[in-house]
Amino acid sequence: MLGSYPIIKDGVRDKRKQQRAKALLLMNKELMEKNDKIDYVSEIKRLKQKKNAVILAHYYQTGDIQDIADFIGDSLALSQKAASTDAGIILFAGVRFMAETAKILSPDKKVLIPDMNAGCSLADSCNAEDFKKFIDKNPGRTIVTYVNTNIDVKVLSDIICTSSNAIPIIESLPSDEKILFGPDRNLGNYILNKTGRDIVIWDGACHVHEEFSLEAILKIKGENPEAKIIVHPECELPVRMVADFIGSTSALLKFTKKDDAEIYIVGTEPGIIHQMKKENPGKKYIPAPPKDSTCGCNECSFMKLITLGKIYKCLRDEEPEIRIDAEILKKARKPIMRMMEISEKSGL
Ligand code: SF4
Repeated sequence: MLGSYPIIKDGVRDKRKQQRAKALLLMNKELMEKNDKIDYVSEIKRLKQKKNAVILAHYYQTGDIQDIADFIGDSLALSQKAASTDAGIILFAGVRFMAETAKILSPDKKVLIPDMNAGCSLADSCNAEDFKKFIDKNPGRTIVTYVNTNIDVKVLSDIICTSSNAIPIIESLPSDEKILFGPDRNLGNYILNKTGRDIVIWDGACHVHEEFSLEAILKIKGENPEAKIIVHPECELPVRMVADFIGSTSALLKFTKKDDAEIYIVGTEPGIIHQMKKENPGKKYIPAPPKDSTCGCNECSFMKLITLGKIYKCLRDEEPEIRIDAEILKKARKPIMRMMEISEKSGL
């Protein structure tokens, strides 16, 4: 079991830098390919209507993409909304595991993602082969995994959870039930501290949420003493410890709506600030800075691979498409349905 404060090894940071460099290269290539003669916004609207498609945008997408989407939100909620529509095509402006989740919930719809390279450092920090070995080393435990996993890890899971429902899902299980949680060590550590349950935690993390600088956050707080610090549970313990509120991205958005503070220091991917500003225009939002002030590492380089140009091409060509073997889809659906059953029973 992890201690209360997991440390990132240098090798992990180097790997993340390489992942980020790769994503930046791809982004530059996209800029070079950009065709300014096309009015992407009106073309996307036209294609969407013609093809009976629905566009989902995660909160971490850029504002221009959020503004053309039919639904904006967290990953699982978006997939659930899309499944309830009569659209024949779902285009997911987000990362690959999210589009996979949309396909799991809508196996008969065509699910598109504008760039197959849009991965996720958290999902990729947990490969199925190693996760299976971890499960085998810890027998007799219920496998609860965060929705931010690739489909082959979902197949190994008993219950999926989100950052919104992780605590009530764990608390819904009998108090003596032993749990194995993955892939995020910070969210796992947060759940462990909140529930006091017997949980072993996989050692994975997100490259964005572990990069926030406690020192820089406290400096901003010193300059704006009235500001509230709001952070995602994927952040490291020292950052969580100074927070006024901890919650999923949609919970952070809701909090800024009902709370009466005027200034917030936002410890999650800054794409959410677009919705915060739209919903509460009078307030001020300061993105929590990364440890390395030169790298812009508080932005998710995978999310930012998606552009309006790629969305247009993807809708036009109906490619890249998420294609998953029917048997795997069925297996991956089981732990998600279990989460939904628990949520329904517990009124979550
Ligand atoms: S912000 Fe982190 S968890 Fe979310 S998609 Fe990007 S890498 Fe994955």
